[in-house]
Amino acid sequence: MLEIKNVKKSFGKQEVLKDVSLRVEKGDVIVILGPSGSGKTTLLRSLAFLEKADGGVMTLGDKSLDMHNASSKDIAWVRKRTAFVFQNYNLFANKTALENVMLGLTAGRGMKKDEAERIARKALRDVGLEDRMDYYPSRLSGGQQQRVGIARAMAVKPDVIFFDEPTSALYPELTGEVLKVLRNLADKKTTMIIVTHEMAFARDVASQVIFMDDGYILEQGRPEEVFDNPEQERTKQFLSSYS
Ligand code: ADP
Ligand code: MG
Repeated sequence: MLEIKNVKKSFGKQEVLKDVSLRVEKGDVIVILGPSGSGKTTLLRSLAFLEKADGGVMTLGDKSLDMHNASSKDIAWVRKRTAFVFQNYNLFANKTALENVMLGLTAGRGMKKDEAERIARKALRDVGLEDRMDYYPSRLSGGQQQRVGIARAMAVKPDVIFFDEPTSALYPELTGEVLKVLRNLADKKTTMIIVTHEMAFARDVASQVIFMDDGYILEQGRPEEVFDNPEQERTKQFLSSYS
């Protein structure tokens, strides 16, 4: 469904993604683990074309494109089929929850306002925010703001949703409500790539776990393989810091 091959990305002299290849099937929940600075965010941002890779080939559906030389038309095509959930929610402060979700549909996809509103209301209900639709972000908790961010991503019905540490800006007592929404999405076979440090969640929900270190995918497998029987010393070290 989504495949990338040999993705590379440097910032100045620093090689952040050295050679990353990855294949995602429909309904997969891929969890990416790895230490800070290993390139996880850069990988997700490159997949979503929020960052332009220096090299690599992406295949999404029936279309293959050169990630460095993709035309603006191709980039728009990929953006229409993907959605991104940010660590810090990235909501418009001067728009209500409902307006934030609608914007992705009207401004983002040219949908008519009344249809956008219908879909946005449903998405907000699905994340348990039926009673907060008219609230501005400043009056919502972090967990609620992140659920608006997830509703905004779901509303556009993307082929795949990228989540970059969706719970790491939250107070610990608020992570559960967001993880619950992610579990629901996984149960509905939503294709997702999630960068997280929530190990229990990863073990439960992931179809594949990836361990990234220093710009490479060092290890990949089913959760029980990676968590209980990691092949690489680096993976063992990393996981032991969480147990
Ligand atoms: P992770 O998400 O795994 O913590 P990142 O992808 O954010 O890692 O960052 C990997 C490396 O790339 C870090 O050393 C970071 O400082 C660097 N980096 C990330 N984004 C930029 C940028 N826009 N400009 C310069 N360096 C960056
Ligand atoms: Mg990051």
